[in-house]
Amino acid sequence: MNEYTSADAIACLRSAGVPVTHQRIEIARALFSAPVHLSADQLWAKVREQAPDVSRATVYNTLRLFSDKGLVRELFVDPARVVFDSTTRPHFHLYNMDTGEVRDLADDELQVVGVPRLPAGTVLQEVDVIVRVRKRPD
Ligand SMILES: [Zn+2]
Repeated sequence: MNEYTSADAIACLRSAGVPVTHQRIEIARALFSAPVHLSADQLWAKVREQAPDVSRATVYNTLRLFSDKGLVRELFVDPARVVFDSTTRPHFHLYNMDTGEVRDLADDELQVVGVPRLPAGTVLQEVDVIVRVRKRPD
């Protein structure tokens, strides 16, 4: 298991043009050590394990910045829930509405074929597919 170090986090922030701070390093390590889909509060809890001084506002502001810089992707899984995805390459998701779990679908699990005719003057920003499941009723 190769660990995602502070040096890795610093390199990541610099390459995205994000000014490096101690808090941003800790937040980057919590996000990028392994692929995750976390709400802001889940991320805050994870960051505090290593850096108890990081405030909730700092986590929220940093997620906004990381999202603007393309380091994380915001995923609106339901009207009341946003998670931040540490994987930014195009991929689709499976969302369990009962447990709240979000996982990536493998490329061979679901494919979207074709691109719709786009309205004049627009460019394709993203194709977002979330497959929602719930427990089968007994
Ligand atoms: Zn994902």
